[in-house]
Amino acid sequence: MSDRELRFGDGKISGVIAMALGALSLLAVLCFRFPELLTTPDLRAVYPVPLLRGVLFVSILISLTASLISFALSRSRLLPVLGLTSTAAAIGLGGAWVETHDPGAQARYLGLDWFVLDLLLLAVLFVPLERAFSLHRAQPILRRGFRTDLAHFFVSHLLVQGTVLLTMAPAAALFGWVVSAEFRTAVRGQPIALQVLEAAFLADLFQYWIHRFAHSSSWLWRFHRIHHSSSQLDWLAGSRLHLVDIVITRAVSFVPLFVAGFSDAAMTTYVVLVSFQAVLIHANVDWRFGKLEWLFATPFYHHWHHTAEPDAIDRNFAVHLPVIDWLFGTLHRPARWPRTYGIDGDPIPDNWFAHLVAPFANTAETEPDRAP
Ligand SMILES: [Zn+2]
Ligand SMILES: [Zn+2]
Repeated sequence: MSDRELRFGDGKISGVIAMALGALSLLAVLCFRFPELLTTPDLRAVYPVPLLRGVLFVSILISLTASLISFALSRSRLLPVLGLTSTAAAIGLGGAWVETHDPGAQARYLGLDWFVLDLLLLAVLFVPLERAFSLHRAQPILRRGFRTDLAHFFVSHLLVQGTVLLTMAPAAALFGWVVSAEFRTAVRGQPIALQVLEAAFLADLFQYWIHRFAHSSSWLWRFHRIHHSSSQLDWLAGSRLHLVDIVITRAVSFVPLFVAGFSDAAMTTYVVLVSFQAVLIHANVDWRFGKLEWLFATPFYHHWHHTAEPDAIDRNFAVHLPVIDWLFGTLHRPARWPRTYGIDGDPIPDNWFAHLVAPFANTAETEPDRAP
């Protein structure tokens, strides 16, 4: 796979589709076969298995067809061979009719089902949207850093049990004494929409300050700068986060949510909305929302957080509500979109493992390089 744009007729689009769907089908079959190891209990409780078997069946069919088309059109055999091999393995292991079983209680698990489903959903939604409403039209789908970001996406989804645990544990351990049963009952008695709005405001208020601190503290910046190292943004770029950055930011943002004790329905709605918003604000789409841009974070607003243009350094820290940046004097809303993204000098090598170890490297280049 190169970073060149995909073009119709050279067999590369079909090759990429074959390989991607073949690999996802194989991983999905593995989830069905080993649910106790590879599936997420919360997610399994809500997804309809017959529908997913149908999706798996269609995915296998498309992958097979795309492999054949790519064989016919492409001089390179790598992509169709990978597509065909992974699809054959998926079929060999049971295909869409693979047997499964109730895993019972799971002490330890990997979120492989979460990875497969989330990637498929986001790709199906955002790849066509980014083609239709491209902000940076010359930017290919398989842009520079795409594979690195896919690795970040893979690992963070796989380790969901650990990151959720580490996100929630500090609040419970340190702030249990603040919790009041009457206060929580009153909070839960409010309409769900109001609770979601309050959750977004409180979480973003705490997120704002830890995020702002991550830009000024040389120790935290070592981790957070990984997120800023993308030189091109799209729906997958938001996944580029160091695991330590994920845990610290989420653990701090979770403190007010834990103390307030919002209802399960409100928390689920909040998590779904913010997960989607976190993807959307990085997307390569040219959407503007007029006056509504004051109400919620948009791609325009967060793209400015990712540029190294001097006026925009250390601006737009909020991720849900721009009013928080306005309150604390860090809102940046010029008339145009930023022209470039990333960190001056591009100091971090573009691969997942380098990102993992970079914060621990004892070099001068890890000093804050975005300080105002
Ligand atoms: Zn930042
Ligand atoms: Zn970002």
